Amino acid sequence: VRCNIVPGVGELFVMPTLTTGGRADILFWEGIPGGPLDVFRGVKDPSEHLALTLELMERFTPWEYARATKVELTDAGGTLAGRYAPTVRNPVGHLPGGGLVLGVADVVVANDPITGQGSNSASKCAAAYLAAIVEHGDRPFDEAWMRSAFDRYWKTAEPVTKWTNAMLAPPPEHVLQLLGAAGELQPIADRFANGFDDPADFENFFFDPEKASAYLASVASGA
Ligand SMILES: Cc1cc2nc3c(=O)[nH]c(=O)nc-3n(C[C@H](O)[C@H](O)[C@H](O)COP(=O)(O)OP(=O)(O)OC[C@H]3O[C@@H](n4cnc5c(N)ncnc54)[C@H](O)[C@@H]3O)c2cc1C
Repeated sequence: VRCNIVPGVGELFVMPTLTTGGRADILFWEGIPGGPLDVFRGVKDPSEHLALTLELMERFTPWEYARATKVELTDAGGTLAGRYAPTVRNPVGHLPGGGLVLGVADVVVANDPITGQGSNSASKCAAAYLAAIVEHGDRPFDEAWMRSAFDRYWKTAEPVTKWTNAMLAPPPEHVLQLLGAAGELQPIADRFANGFDDPADFENFFFDPEKASAYLASVASGA
């Protein structure tokens, strides 16, 4: 995946993918609401959608546009546009008939796609709920149990949410330093990449400027 950040505008991800028709690349713009990329509302025709995508690439990421002049859609319906606000919901729903439902994955925690966490988080949610079901045995699966099952998932979902929301904001100085250093020093690049698997580690070196500079100093000195 290649990510092109356009400050103040948004970012273009180019994602290799496999479709039923073969190998393809997803051209994926994420735009700041109200900004220059926020122009897809009302665009229903896929070829118009593709043309607009390319126009924005030519304007903001000409190096990617240069690679994409011969693109065509994988199929006639191969486009998607949408918007949503990142949301964490009450995990337990009360049905009109009195029954209870426990939400899973995106239904309860929907983050911005910027960090690419949703699918693995959905799997981690399913794994947490499965363990909670198996451990509970024959006891009733009541509201208290549902909340405890969600709390178990939230242990992994909370760091994902905190980090994803942080990545939506303009990066503070210490984060720019970390990312710059990651371009030079492999251990920092590895640690940042491994954070995609376990964002809880960002607590130790990413959010807090003092922890970030202590970490940078320890890598630079070979400690
Ligand atoms: C633009 C975009 C880019 C993303 N990029 C990434 C990425 O790079 N990496 C990543 O990990 N995640 C990414 N995600 C997030 C990821 O797609 C979701 O987090 C993940 O699919 C959530 O899984 P889920 O099972 O909760 O929901 P879904 O995958 O949405 O599955 C829910 C299913 O329920 C069906 N359904 C809904 N209502 C009913 C009904 N009444 N009856 C029967 N069926 C119903 C739907 O049709 C759907 O198939 C992205 C999301 C978006 C929107």
